Amino acid sequence: PKTGNTWLVTGGAGFIGGNFVLEAVRSGVKIINLDALTYAGNLDTLKSLDGNPNHVFVHGDIGDRELVTKLLAEHRPDAVVNFAAESHVDRSIDGPAAFIHTNVVGTLVLLEAVRDYWKSLEGAARDDFRFYHVSTDEVYGTLGDTGLFTEETAYAPNSPYSASKAASDHLVRAFHHTYGLPVLTTNCSNNYGPYHFPEKLIPLVIAKALAGEPLPIYGDGEQVRDWLYVGDHCAAIRAVLAEGKVGETYNVGGNAEKQNIEVVKTICALLDQRKPKSDGSKYESQITYVKDRPGHDRRYAIDASKLKRELGWEPAHTFEQGIANTVDWYLANQPWVNRVLDGSYRLERIGQG
Ligand code: NAD
Repeated sequence: PKTGNTWLVTGGAGFIGGNFVLEAVRSGVKIINLDALTYAGNLDTLKSLDGNPNHVFVHGDIGDRELVTKLLAEHRPDAVVNFAAESHVDRSIDGPAAFIHTNVVGTLVLLEAVRDYWKSLEGAARDDFRFYHVSTDEVYGTLGDTGLFTEETAYAPNSPYSASKAASDHLVRAFHHTYGLPVLTTNCSNNYGPYHFPEKLIPLVIAKALAGEPLPIYGDGEQVRDWLYVGDHCAAIRAVLAEGKVGETYNVGGNAEKQNIEVVKTICALLDQRKPKSDGSKYESQITYVKDRPGHDRRYAIDASKLKRELGWEPAHTFEQGIANTVDWYLANQPWVNRVLDGSYRLERIGQG
């Protein structure tokens, strides 16, 4: 690939970043993984890389300019891929400040450090360098029953989370137009798959179903999301990093629009097959409707045709395949889930410096 084989990844102990790092290291890329290990960072996800010289974990904040500058100078990466963020909408409603700290200020500090490093490069190293920003379709706001988000859709973020991501996208764009930094941005839909923190809908429902607890559905459950299997998302990032046009943005979607209630019922049906309840009842009977999230966007749906047309990427998994893989992964990896649920995954961070 044009982007060489040493990449600084931020947020690589989180859900998508973790999946991306595992796959990249397996494919022979050297990854410097900078992660602040907030509640969402989980080193258990990266256990299989212990002792692998192609994975260097660094505990730190993207907003620490000195640290980022030092890492860039020491490791001379060919690309920086920015996953680090506060990512949970409900948490942004309860406390928006952390979202501004990391998603806006942190991204700005990272951009400044990367800009200065990139300027110091020469020749092909400078031409081929990329700053890759991972963002969300939530920056586009909400859709009615029809229509799709394209790369031309105007930004209209509705939650503190999406507002902070929108701000970061604008900063990335501005660093390209103002300083010439070679940037790439993708805006993707809701991801799901292995290593997903069990506060998000799909892993939450699997965990609660297995624990015999109520399965909470916001409002009427008819909110529509376009579900993207995390492995397909990682493949899209690799494609855009290698071949994407500098300064462009690309939408990444799963071609899998589903109402939340359909997603939950699908999970219940898969669990009924794989782990029938001893009392003979169906998992669906645990569904409970709860008060809707304030400002809850009704529908998101992505037009990913630009990525298909220009780079030949499209999702390799249907929702049915992806969700079955995901349920099977959670059933096979209960210790990973249990260590999140009981908090012991956080003890790992002691001694990380
Ligand atoms: P996540 O919350 O699982 O992981 C975020 C990671 O970033 C964690 O490991 C955390 O410790 C780290 N982090 C947080 N603040 C940091 C800081 N200041 N410095 C360094 N590291 C920090 O998130 P995710 O779901 O993997 O999302 C990754 C990226 O993809 C985010 O930018 C998010 O906005 C975007 N995104 C996610 C989805 C989705 O469905 N999960 C959809 C669209 C876009």
